[in-house]
Amino acid sequence: MFAENLNELASILNGRLHGKTAPDPVRHVETDTRHGFKPNTVFFALRGHNFDGASFLDHAARRGAMAAVVASDVDTPTPLPLIKVTDPLRALQTLAARHRKRFKAPLLAVTGSNGKTIFKDFLTGILGRDRFVISSPGSYNSQVGTALSLLRLQPEAEAAIIEVGVSQVGEMDHQRAMVQPDHGVLINIGMAHLEGFGSRKMIAAEKLKLFADMRRGNLLLPDDPLLADYVPQKETVLYRGDDAQLPRLLQVQAVAPGQAQLLFRFHNAGEQALDLAVDASFREVFATIEMGVRAAFLMGASAENIIAGGGAYRPPHARMEIWKAQNGAVLANDSYSSDPVSALAALRVFNHYPERRKIFIFGGMTELGQGGNYQHEVVGEEAARQGVDQLLTIGDLPGRTAQVFQQRRGADACRRFESVDACNAYLSQTSTAEDIILVKGPRALGLQQIGVHFKERLAQTVYYINLSRIRHNLMVFKDRVPPGTRVMVMLKAFAYGTDASHVANYLQPHVDFFGVAYTKEAVNLRRAGVSGRILVQLVRIEDVDEIVALSLQPVVFSLEVATALSRAAKAAGKTVKLHLKVDTGMGRFGVFPHQVADLGQAISALPGLEIEGLMTHFSAADDPNDDAFTQKQIDLFKQARDHLAARGIHPRLLHAAATSGVVRRPDAHFDMIRLGLGMYGIYPSPAVAEEIQLKCPIALVSRIGSLKSYPADYPVSYNRRFTTPRESRIAFVPLGYHDGLSRALSNKGYVRIAGKKAPIVGAVCMDFTPVDVTDIPEAKVGDPVLILGEWQNQAIRVEEIADLEGTIPYEILCRLSERIQRIYLLDED
Ligand SMILES: *Cc1c(COP(=O)(O)O)cnc(C)c1O
Repeated sequence: MFAENLNELASILNGRLHGKTAPDPVRHVETDTRHGFKPNTVFFALRGHNFDGASFLDHAARRGAMAAVVASDVDTPTPLPLIKVTDPLRALQTLAARHRKRFKAPLLAVTGSNGKTIFKDFLTGILGRDRFVISSPGSYNSQVGTALSLLRLQPEAEAAIIEVGVSQVGEMDHQRAMVQPDHGVLINIGMAHLEGFGSRKMIAAEKLKLFADMRRGNLLLPDDPLLADYVPQKETVLYRGDDAQLPRLLQVQAVAPGQAQLLFRFHNAGEQALDLAVDASFREVFATIEMGVRAAFLMGASAENIIAGGGAYRPPHARMEIWKAQNGAVLANDSYSSDPVSALAALRVFNHYPERRKIFIFGGMTELGQGGNYQHEVVGEEAARQGVDQLLTIGDLPGRTAQVFQQRRGADACRRFESVDACNAYLSQTSTAEDIILVKGPRALGLQQIGVHFKERLAQTVYYINLSRIRHNLMVFKDRVPPGTRVMVMLKAFAYGTDASHVANYLQPHVDFFGVAYTKEAVNLRRAGVSGRILVQLVRIEDVDEIVALSLQPVVFSLEVATALSRAAKAAGKTVKLHLKVDTGMGRFGVFPHQVADLGQAISALPGLEIEGLMTHFSAADDPNDDAFTQKQIDLFKQARDHLAARGIHPRLLHAAATSGVVRRPDAHFDMIRLGLGMYGIYPSPAVAEEIQLKCPIALVSRIGSLKSYPADYPVSYNRRFTTPRESRIAFVPLGYHDGLSRALSNKGYVRIAGKKAPIVGAVCMDFTPVDVTDIPEAKVGDPVLILGEWQNQAIRVEEIADLEGTIPYEILCRLSERIQRIYLLDED
């Protein structure tokens, strides 16, 4: 809790409360309306260079904020109580500092020019083995991020690790006042970004300010001549890299591709080996890891926990955008940054597309200092190892990469281009539907232009699908079920309209089974390289050979299909593991509970079949009014299990719960859960929404195709279903019911342009939709239009659209036409 009520909050923040106070305590704060708000949240409307939080007050109100903190000059009308302060950012920091003071466990603050997030994640993994550790989420280390991290401190925690960054001189004073570290670590000073001794010195001075108020505790500094004269505060214990007390990295050894073994000497526990899933050439990473081991040691971790916890560390993923081009090729663009860690991480994208021809477009890496040549060679090695078929380099920077790659794969597999344009021209002539093209290089090179010829042929409407967020949601569900519960991800209907092959390849490592409706869908997944287990719901006799040949697993509820499967399995010399389905009240597929024993027994007698699973499906688990009915389904399912057991049949995997069941019926998790809608951040019903918080991974975005002004009293679109009540400006969005935007939204739905609501007026047409932008005078042709989902601080919930047109969110998602361009985002946030 941050304050007893709004009055108290206003007084803490030195602000003035306008509007009604509520008796409720303030429990949470948010600065971003894209996040789901918990009850009792106050929204801080921060200002940045390109945004003003105050323009999202509306959104915050709808998210259920209890109040907002705004700058004193804000006069936007809003139903929210407002606390006006001089500077909302400083107010947030004041609150964070106050909250931090109440936290009594040791707080370690880490700063440095790079590797802070790796250090923090690595150390958290070690300390987390025997104590409750809170650490900054993601790479929250800015002025805002650090404050939000501190506001997450909970009194029960036994340690905290807080990342602190600065981007300008002067910022550290604010950070220090908030963070008040007990222990400190400086990882490194400007090794990558800065030339010239003078500015490095300035950076060092700025970073060291973080520790200026430390009175006790340990301070760990790197071996850097720049710090040789540093004198800490009186009782702070200073450790430098060469301290004999500290664990020392003796040796790094490559043990397998992407696997390194680090040998440490502990002065009290002898030599210990740490196994890491990192390429052995990552020198920068190892320096950071060594710091992490030392910090863990200083925080009291045992050598045993350091080795076990550190070994579980996995380096972060790349950040990329994945397009499916019109010609069918897949284009993975990762040109945000280019350094060895992210380049090698980006190459892993090829793992997800085993069946495709692999093309790697590389612009090289900058900011490498001494090891530049060597690091470029490592990338060439790794590209060859990943089975890259063609390496296309641009400019001179990646020369060494090309050299090494050529030695492995031959001169033909490599081409060099002077410019991005030349490379583009080559690609447009040679790229085919079978390609996966990875684009990687420094931002300054303009590699985003690669594939422009794909983008130009795009429809104006793009469907963004954030795979990292889908994975996040999957993990949220996994956290709700007991460890060891299996997970099936349902990929029917084109993976709810998101395209099954991308989702499947990306989630494969986290999933035990995929589920589809029809055999055809499973065949497509196999073609796309999905090698895991796939359960097919509706198998026809005509499908049995394919089921056997592709090692698919059928759901069975008829002896006829079972007999055909047995025959096919026997002919191929294989065993088919099937799942029996019971109809406990869904009224769709499956045998009734009293029939299951006979069917099970008959199937057991057939050769080549094994009853691996027993399943049922709930009819209304989303609806509290039907909880008694769901209970009856659960009871009948257990009876079916018992009937089978009485005949000596014990399926290993019992499963019943889909999204709603997982969330609302912990008593129905059994051995496996089957997830669909929830992974897309959508709640099947309000009762489900109350229980779980998911991220929205999708956004359907179009552009204004044309604009026209009409006099008052003029009809718009088919059948004159709308007549302008005043002089009006109408925008036409190039998307209609052919794309999956329901005609039922005519005169009912809305879109968002520049953060504002633009109502759909008149009839939705086949390829166009008219929207009223009279009140958005800044709207112009080409401006982005949000149709559904979450995008750039705007949101339209799919649930809301479903309500407007009288259907369920499921239908909205899977109706989106396959002609809409899908772009996949990988972005750990
Ligand atoms: C579609 C489906 C699911 C997933 O349902 P969601 O509500 O989308 O989670 C689970 N099991 C079966 C049998 C299904 O057909």
